Amino acid sequence: MVKVLKPKGQIKRIDGFKAEPAKAPEKKVEFDQREESLRTLSQFFLGEMDLKMRMRQMSLATGKEPQEWVATLEILKDNVIKTEHPDLKLKMYQGMVDLLAKVGQKEDLFVIQQIIARYNLKSFKDIGFERVEVDVAKDACPVCKKMAGKKFRIDEAMETMPIPCHDCSTEVDAVKGYCRCRYYAVF
Ligand SMILES: [Zn+2]
Ligand SMILES: [Zn+2]
Repeated sequence: MVKVLKPKGQIKRIDGFKAEPAKAPEKKVEFDQREESLRTLSQFFLGEMDLKMRMRQMSLATGKEPQEWVATLEILKDNVIKTEHPDLKLKMYQGMVDLLAKVGQKEDLFVIQQIIARYNLKSFKDIGFERVEVDVAKDACPVCKKMAGKKFRIDEAMETMPIPCHDCSTEVDAVKGYCRCRYYAVF
């Protein structure tokens, strides 16, 4: 007979540790960051246990309890490196972007949007395309609308990074500047 460790027991043990470090949220976050973190993780078959483990590791390393969304981002960063599957990688980056929008981290959000744009450009280039065209959201802001239909050589776009648009004014959740412009390959 095989004995199986029950997850419940493990969760309780880790909860015991949690009593010590005082939780001091640095800034007001008006959504339920725990719920949002778990919702993000669940898209990738990750869950409460992964979050608790990571928070514990981070607490030990830094001496203070991380916010849940910060730990969630760290988990995703690790997984995005590990996964070989291009679609899953992109989905993880997008999950990070959505979470960053919720917490209002504009700079990080922009950086990850750039990673996504670069990744798309590279994928097109790898399969032999030379040019891309920008597609904008129907309800895009004026800055983004100006990009509609613009064509770039992939090499040029990789250098100048026209999207995500720097001065985008679209508000999504707690972030102003959530550019939703996308590249399409030009045949
Ligand atoms: Zn844009
Ligand atoms: Zn915009």
